[in-house]
Amino acid sequence: VWVDFSALVQQAVRKMELKVNEKGIKLFVTLRGEPFQIQGEEKRLEQVILNILENAVRYTEQGQIHVQLSFTADSLLFSVEDTGIGIPEEELPFIFERFYRVEKSRSRQYGGTGLGLAIVNKLVQLHGGNIVFTSQVGVGTCCTVQFPKKWDEALPETEDK
Ligand code: ATP
Ligand code: MG
Repeated sequence: VWVDFSALVQQAVRKMELKVNEKGIKLFVTLRGEPFQIQGEEKRLEQVILNILENAVRYTEQGQIHVQLSFTADSLLFSVEDTGIGIPEEELPFIFERFYRVEKSRSRQYGGTGLGLAIVNKLVQLHGGNIVFTSQVGVGTCCTVQFPKKWDEALPETEDK
């Protein structure tokens, strides 16, 4: 099924606006180029976008979140950059593991189950894409998801989150 990815991003951003305003942070959205269609499952792609955005909002106390959508010749790039608490470099390799959460003190403060990124990672892979995090503690985190413009495999059922 063809899905309008930029429309999904805009929808997800609207869902987060209240929370963002409550926290007093700013949310910027840059959508470059034409509305972009990719092959996939709308619900699953929305889950990917929302989970990444939710993390950015949850782990950012001040500053801004920048959501960007851009295109190259053969792929779509979706990125969410925040000015939040960051992720220690030595923890980065583990954030996609089920139930993995950085530091216990942090977990108590912020809630969450540690399942979000495990599911996101799986869904991105099922859509033929890949996901990369860069982060610096106390500075912020940037998550970039890359999807190929062509994708034509059947998508197995995945659990809800
Ligand atoms: P859930 O998403 O299941 O409610 P969660 O947010 O703790 O819980 P994940 O989304 O899988 O779990 O993220 C794993 C860990 O990675 C988080 O506990 C958090 O410490 C860290 N993390 C993820 N995104 C960010 C971010 N944008 N800034 C700082 N830390 C992050
Ligand atoms: Mg999360």
